[in-house]
Amino acid sequence: MLSDVITELQALGLRIEGSLHKRDGGAGPAEGGTVMIDSVPAHVPLSSGYVARSPYVLYADDSGCSWLAKDGKALFPAEIVRRPKFYDYVTEDQVDYWKIALLHGKDCIASTVIQTCSYWNPADRCRFCGIELSLRDGGTIKEKTPAQLAEVIARARELDSVSHVVLTTGAIRPSAREMDHLAACAATIKKVCTIPIHVQFLPPPNLDTLYALKAAGVDSVGIHIESFDFDVLSRVAPVKAAIGLDGYDKVWQKAVEIFGENQVSSFVIVGLGEKESTILEGCEFMADRGVYPFVVPFRPIPGTLMQDSKPPDPALMKRLYESVVTMLRKKGLSSSRSLAGCVRCGACSAVQVYEEEKKRDVVCRPARNRSELAEAMAIRREVFVEEQELFSKSDIDEHDPESVQIIAEFAGEIIGTVRVFPKQGSASEWIGGRLAVRKGCRIHRAGVLLVREAMRCVKQKGCIRFTAHIQERNVRYFSRLGWKAVGPAEVYHGKPHQLMEADLSRV
Ligand code: SF4
Repeated sequence: MLSDVITELQALGLRIEGSLHKRDGGAGPAEGGTVMIDSVPAHVPLSSGYVARSPYVLYADDSGCSWLAKDGKALFPAEIVRRPKFYDYVTEDQVDYWKIALLHGKDCIASTVIQTCSYWNPADRCRFCGIELSLRDGGTIKEKTPAQLAEVIARARELDSVSHVVLTTGAIRPSAREMDHLAACAATIKKVCTIPIHVQFLPPPNLDTLYALKAAGVDSVGIHIESFDFDVLSRVAPVKAAIGLDGYDKVWQKAVEIFGENQVSSFVIVGLGEKESTILEGCEFMADRGVYPFVVPFRPIPGTLMQDSKPPDPALMKRLYESVVTMLRKKGLSSSRSLAGCVRCGACSAVQVYEEEKKRDVVCRPARNRSELAEAMAIRREVFVEEQELFSKSDIDEHDPESVQIIAEFAGEIIGTVRVFPKQGSASEWIGGRLAVRKGCRIHRAGVLLVREAMRCVKQKGCIRFTAHIQERNVRYFSRLGWKAVGPAEVYHGKPHQLMEADLSRV
């Protein structure tokens, strides 16, 4: 599967013949270059020492087509992202365009607007970051002006069809003047083209600066905690550790209020020494707030304080991607909803590929809005009124207003539903019912998954006894899910039903 291949590539690296445009420095945690693998952009390690031992190689066949191969076996057509045309230009003040901004992924243009950081000293700096390395190598300039950025981005949009912008920056303390500079850059870019803009920054001391970014035309923001293990964070990013989870949470919540759910993100770097459970708990903490956890494997940048560290085990990354993507779907977060930035680009992570592959799985969760609720009711009507003729006009009753309506989603469509509601006068007893899966969609185990989600949902609400009146012909089906018959069968809506109780210890 493509997801497995990209996960391994990002951990093991890609051996490559010939020259390739690649990132050696820059802000953040990744060295490497972008390769299109079966039309999916993947930013992979190219020059770290361990890459020489990678089983993956990019080679050209006799006809000139390039392929990704593992252990000598061709896997996918793959090609190096071409050098963009805008790199050949210089600004009005005679700076090479490629020193102002670079092409990232397949269609993102990225710039570090202030290439210095107040914390760039051995005690304070983030040990994985290479922000000032490219300055030392002459690969960029210290500070990009709003006018330079607007000129370069307008040209890149015209010549190379870039479709979104990432602006990142070093932190300037105590003034935090990088926030004003980001806003000025965004406003000037938006004057020359209507391209979505994402900006990344350290939590600012003054939250009003977030409103200024929004007013300047910024569409999404990245406020990166990097790790939820504060022992690890104190070691690798002491300034971020000192801000603390509460400090991040305050800024994330304000940012979600201003920019909206799914438009706020944070890198979660895997492989800094943290526990697997900490990563998942942290991702859930963020997702609960509408913040997208952008999970990436740690990739040591040559020249940084962590240059000799290794990327994480691909098997760990696969487990994490699987769990995080399921979690994201349940919370309604998706990279496809991101307007701009790393979450939209996706090249430094394999999370987008897992999201795509997971679309073929059924996911069950409570309905989130009126249209999902209406779709659930339409399915109930199709099944109970039209198909089974249990009700003549409508199956909606007095329990619906207090019910949690759970839905099953498959390939972007709602295909099934079940409801749960508390028994009158009791917080610990819940009743389930109206389990319905659309005709033609009953091959995806949606019914089983809906029942399990209903059990999980009521248990989370403190339920101790969960019952349902089950049509007699479905009693065996529920027995296999651990439900037990209680008392004799009864006639309910003209058909024999059996009261059954769930074994909530199975959740
Ligand atoms: S994910 Fe972010 S850092 Fe990575 S290539 Fe894309 S824009 Fe650049």
